[in-house]
Amino acid sequence: MTLTLTTVACLADNYAFIIGNSATKEAAVIDAPESAPINAAILAGGWRLTTVLLTHHHWDHIDGLDGLANSADLRVIGAAADAHRLPALNTTVAEGDTIHVCGEDAQILDVSGHTVGHIAFHFAKSGFVFTADSLMALGCGRLFEGTPKQMWGSMQKLRALPPETIICSGHEYTATNAAFALTLEPDNADLRSRVEAIKAARINGEPTVPSILALEQQTNPFLRADVPALKHAIGMDTADSTSVFTQIRARKDRF
Ligand code: ZN
Ligand code: FE
Repeated sequence: MTLTLTTVACLADNYAFIIGNSATKEAAVIDAPESAPINAAILAGGWRLTTVLLTHHHWDHIDGLDGLANSADLRVIGAAADAHRLPALNTTVAEGDTIHVCGEDAQILDVSGHTVGHIAFHFAKSGFVFTADSLMALGCGRLFEGTPKQMWGSMQKLRALPPETIICSGHEYTATNAAFALTLEPDNADLRSRVEAIKAARINGEPTVPSILALEQQTNPFLRADVPALKHAIGMDTADSTSVFTQIRARKDRF
């Protein structure tokens, strides 16, 4: 049995996710941007919230924690490296650790770059990875603390997961990311068709998150810094992948 995934829109453009075990009805929430929509989704699903997984310390991922129903009884899990700037944690984790959540094991990946200490939670059996502001749909998070080299390392780590993995990222930034990606690879047919699908989804008010890793591999420029087609498209055929990633991230910052 795999866990049930519910995407919860919060604030202006954030996403939280609820994973639930339909046999036991226990649930966990990944990031807490805002309590009201999360509490409503927990209630609507008939879930019993037991656990909160925090990806990083930014306010738009943690400020809803105190307002969650039965917040005093929740198990709160976050990075040991960020314990000093996260809400009080019951369990601290680091890369390589395995935690047991809703009856399933999740592996912790360090995906620093956006912040140093940002982690992702990989539920291999259900095929989910919660990436927040590291790998995003057609993009990646801005580098507030880490270096391009660190973020490129994080991208390679996430890219190596099974291609059918569902990428649960933290924001609805995909339309802007799509416009940027097209400036780099206007002739990428997979990208062009994905951009059309994104436009249609947004016109209908549908989320573009989560997405599938296989499609990110074909279209997300931040996963393609070592792909000859991308390097050629931006005139960096002979450059090393870290330099290419650095260039792509710099162009996005100016976009
Ligand atoms: Zn953030
Ligand atoms: Fe964020």
